[in-house]
Amino acid sequence: SSEMKPTNNSTLEVVSPKVQVDDEFITTDYDYQTSHVKRTADGQLQVHPQTTSLKIRTGRQVPKLGVMLVGWGGNNGSTLTAALEANRRQLKWRKRTGIQEANWFGSITQASTTGGDVYVPMKELLPMVEPDNIVVDGWDISGLHLGDAMRRAEVLDVALQDQLYDQLAQLRPRPSIYDPDFIAANQSDRADNQYEQIRKDIRDFRESSGVDSVIVLWTANTERFSDVKAGLNTTSQELLASLKANHSEVSPSTIFAMASIDEGCTYINGSPQNTFVPGLIQLAEEKKVFIAGDDFKSGQTKIKSVLVDFLVGAGIKPVSIASYNHLGNNDGKNLSAPQQFRSKEISKSNVVDDMVASNRLLYGPEEHPDHVVVIKYVPYVGDSKRAMDEYTSEIMMGGHNTLVIHNTCEDSLLATPLILDLLSTRIQLRSAEQSAPWVPFKPVLSLLSYLCKAPLVPQGSQVVNSLFRQRAAIENILRGCIGLPPISHMTLEQRFD
Ligand code: NAD
Repeated sequence: SSEMKPTNNSTLEVVSPKVQVDDEFITTDYDYQTSHVKRTADGQLQVHPQTTSLKIRTGRQVPKLGVMLVGWGGNNGSTLTAALEANRRQLKWRKRTGIQEANWFGSITQASTTGGDVYVPMKELLPMVEPDNIVVDGWDISGLHLGDAMRRAEVLDVALQDQLYDQLAQLRPRPSIYDPDFIAANQSDRADNQYEQIRKDIRDFRESSGVDSVIVLWTANTERFSDVKAGLNTTSQELLASLKANHSEVSPSTIFAMASIDEGCTYINGSPQNTFVPGLIQLAEEKKVFIAGDDFKSGQTKIKSVLVDFLVGAGIKPVSIASYNHLGNNDGKNLSAPQQFRSKEISKSNVVDDMVASNRLLYGPEEHPDHVVVIKYVPYVGDSKRAMDEYTSEIMMGGHNTLVIHNTCEDSLLATPLILDLLSTRIQLRSAEQSAPWVPFKPVLSLLSYLCKAPLVPQGSQVVNSLFRQRAAIENILRGCIGLPPISHMTLEQRFD
């Protein structure tokens, strides 16, 4: 690969004997504290605090990153491409209300801070990919160039579109795999491209653009779920055989993920379908390639993973959650078909499970709040999605508390910053013992759960949906990489003389 540029975006220096910085790595000695819980024979719970001495290291050289979007010409794909360019050129445009400048609001890496006494932009904690240097490419079943795709999306202000149009018109998606059995049949009017070799495309992009590393991200339409069954896709061997036999139940997205893994490229699934069938997860583990998903957590589900956390954490018992959505963009059109809606429904439904399970004072072992999700296609509202939620909870002595939320928002302007955040850093870890090997994150990147509605986690790991816990995980791991303790909010120094 070509030359690697050290980043300059980290303005922070941690002065500690436990932190060493050389040209290649930031390395820290880290005491990781956990507690191990055991139940004794007489039913007593015993907690054993444990400290493990680790070394954590992070590469200082940030690779020149290429992103290949499946569904590049869609609302998210075209909005991301436009936003990268608008921010790179620091564009300004006139709105009715005044001058608007390009920004990355909604991105935790670019627009949020971390810390207690001093707040530091998250992107300055560690060397991270600089959005201005990202190169975008991708595929679509519609061959429209990105300038027209941006217009078709009807997301960005026209005065901004006009400044970007000529440049985006130079970009054209590569032909993709279209299988009307997997996305709604009403999408067939966009299928003007044929299937082409995805692996070849990835190699071609890598060579022609000079990027060091490529991430492939699915932001194409939601597919129906594929069957999972022995002989088809439950092991990597089965999946490879099914691909060879051109088995109709191997979805386009799973084919993209397989090609991406074979090319050593991280694959991220921004939609709800089960691209990551068991055989695919095994393939990623065997090839030691990262996968992450599923389904961007941008709006209604994000609120849900905050509100239910707050209610259950307050000792209040949510008993009914009803969520209605209507939207008029192409995603909404695709989701108006029953099988594709079903994928979204499943992805949106499990989000409260772990929070409910965490409080057995409120819920019996099999007890759950009623939880209903409805999505309707209303063309007129376009990308401006409406989400209406009603949360009814039991409070003290049989009383009730009903919260109603009405959210109106440009869907793709919420999703696009998440796509940027999903392009993560390179962290390794090892035991402090001399000969211990460095290990990267497990192939299933659960750290990205904050950004995903239905987080994929390594087998046997706990799924965490609570947004605060998910964010704290990112923040504290980034802090650990530069030798800082987790944020505990204890602030003892302020509470005692
Ligand atoms: P969109 O319909 O505007 O874009 C999807 C694009 O994918 C279209 O251009 C379509 O032609 C293309 N496409 C469909 N099948 C393809 C295939 N097999 N190969 C290549 N391209 C294909 O949708 P969008 O609003 O950009 O959303 C994209 C996806 O992200 C959807 O699945 C949606 O459910 C998911 N998502 C979006 C949000 C959000 O926007 N807030 C949140 C969560 C998840």
